[in-house]
Amino acid sequence: MSTDDPKAPSNFIRHIIDEDLASGKHAKIQTRFPPEPNGYLHIGHAKSICLNFGLARDYQGTCNLRFDDTNPAKEEVEYVESIMADVRWLGFDWESRLFYASDYFGQLYEWALHLIRNGDAYVDSLSAEEVSEYRGKWYEPGKESPYRDRTVQENLDLFEGMRAGKFKEGEHVLRAKIDMAASNPNLRDPAIYRVKHADHHRTGSKWCIYPTYDFAHGQSDAIEEITHSLCTLEFEVHRPLYDWFVEHLPVPAVPRQIEFARLNLSHTILSKRNLLRLVEEGHVDGWDDPRMPTLAGFRRRGFTPESIRNFCDRIGLAKADSTVDVKMLDHSLREHLEVVAPRRMGVLRPLKVVIDNYPEDQTEEFDFPDHPDYPERGARKVPFSREIYIERTDFMEEPVRKFFRLAPGREVRLRWAYFITCVDVIKDDDGQLVELHCTYDPESRGGNSPDGRRVKGTLHWVDAHRSVEAEVRLFEQLFTDEEPKPSAEDFTALINPNARQILTGCRLEPSLAECTVGEPVQFERQGYFCVDSVDSKDDALVFNRSTPLRDSWGKKQQANKQGKRGKGKRGKGKRGKAAQHAGKQHTPQAKPGTE
Ligand code: ATP
Ligand code: MG
Repeated sequence: MSTDDPKAPSNFIRHIIDEDLASGKHAKIQTRFPPEPNGYLHIGHAKSICLNFGLARDYQGTCNLRFDDTNPAKEEVEYVESIMADVRWLGFDWESRLFYASDYFGQLYEWALHLIRNGDAYVDSLSAEEVSEYRGKWYEPGKESPYRDRTVQENLDLFEGMRAGKFKEGEHVLRAKIDMAASNPNLRDPAIYRVKHADHHRTGSKWCIYPTYDFAHGQSDAIEEITHSLCTLEFEVHRPLYDWFVEHLPVPAVPRQIEFARLNLSHTILSKRNLLRLVEEGHVDGWDDPRMPTLAGFRRRGFTPESIRNFCDRIGLAKADSTVDVKMLDHSLREHLEVVAPRRMGVLRPLKVVIDNYPEDQTEEFDFPDHPDYPERGARKVPFSREIYIERTDFMEEPVRKFFRLAPGREVRLRWAYFITCVDVIKDDDGQLVELHCTYDPESRGGNSPDGRRVKGTLHWVDAHRSVEAEVRLFEQLFTDEEPKPSAEDFTALINPNARQILTGCRLEPSLAECTVGEPVQFERQGYFCVDSVDSKDDALVFNRSTPLRDSWGKKQQANKQGKRGKGKRGKGKRGKAAQHAGKQHTPQAKPGTE
């Protein structure tokens, strides 16, 4: 288990645990993370993982990984494996405590018999529609089923018949006998066991009846002697039922269910059912598509486990639902990568520059620090010669106000290298820019001013011949809507068509060819990047941008909003002209004029 994170801030669950330990109710705490293996884990699950494993770590307790695999229809081994990989990647370890609710099917069956024998459960033969009709509405009591008063023996025989496969799905259901007039509908004789003729990924064809979530979950907690069973708010109304089962069964421990607010993230859909739809309908390339809010997607995009753990600590724990701004997640990532990612140079939209007065047969190599703040981390060699590439967006033939980068007749600094001045602009017959011609000042080697004269722009660059070609993928949020409603019939219509932008023919400094999967790097002025774990090959490099250096996307959204609010005139003014001249000005750039 990771120990590098400072203890998370206190919260209401920690207060409860403090009290339980102080009063001697528990000597040691035991939590669990209980995913249902019906999809990949998403960032919401990370909150639950960090909470459960984090509490165990901080209180010297233990946390189990338990697959809540009571629904054979939707569960797959692929999901089990991905969940384990993701929890480990986040930095947590369940050691020997890997459990499956399906391991308890035998015990749960015995306990169902126990309830029947005590007159606390009965086999109902109403249809599913009738059951739900009899259950009543929130504010009106339900009606008792005509089968409610079957004798214990009748119930035992029917339940045995259900188990033996004598009945079709829906023909009978085992229900707890609680109170059809209860104000909480969850207590109106909830179902405990249903007939389901489906093979299970672990128990195969052994069972054709399966326990419901409500019956399995609390009892699994009790079997594992979980002290604090943490779940999201929607289970608050299930708590009386959770407690009822524990009270009416000879369980070995009395766990306590505590609810907390689930994580909602702006511009993001977090629900496996809807994420599955995105995958199945091909709106994304798979569960690990970097546009997905899954842990596998974030990993492939270049997020680090530290940044996700810090994010989860930072958002805190509340008793009321709210939505967290997705920018906070990017912020946590930048904060971590700023320190750990070595600096590199990559030109995403190359524009060739020929340095006329640089000797044609000359090449040189600079030693550039991997991280200017940590010189002890070493340096790498960066080649330089007469022909280089700069960023297309770093040149404007007719510079607008506050554009301080390269323009005809203007001098700028090539990062760590030389001062250059643009002397000529070459275009093709269609008027498209082909290359620039510049001169350099040999006295400015290292990017230092030889005589105190100042330049306002500093550009990144790569050598034209000794750079490597790569594809670079840039990402925006998958949904432009701040709160995409998955309930909307066609929420897929809200997908941001620019969520992934693919740039080919990018040129990167040669050391980037050695970059391996899982190694974050900063491309100066462009953001943080990583090698794509799926599509990058030795002879065809692919990099993903994990996040830009600044929140340019948020600003773009803001600008769009303002534009929509009728500030069109201003929008078409100087900004519009600048964008026209500079090409795609919305692309991540250092603020014009500051470099
Ligand atoms: P989804 O609705 O996305 O399918 P789920 O709750 O059905 O999620 P489970 O596999 O049952 O998914 O969840 C495992 C654990 O993760 C549960 O304890 C659940 O409460 C928690 N969890 C799921 N989503 C979130 C979220 N958005 N924020 C915090 N915890 C979550
Ligand atoms: Mg669930």
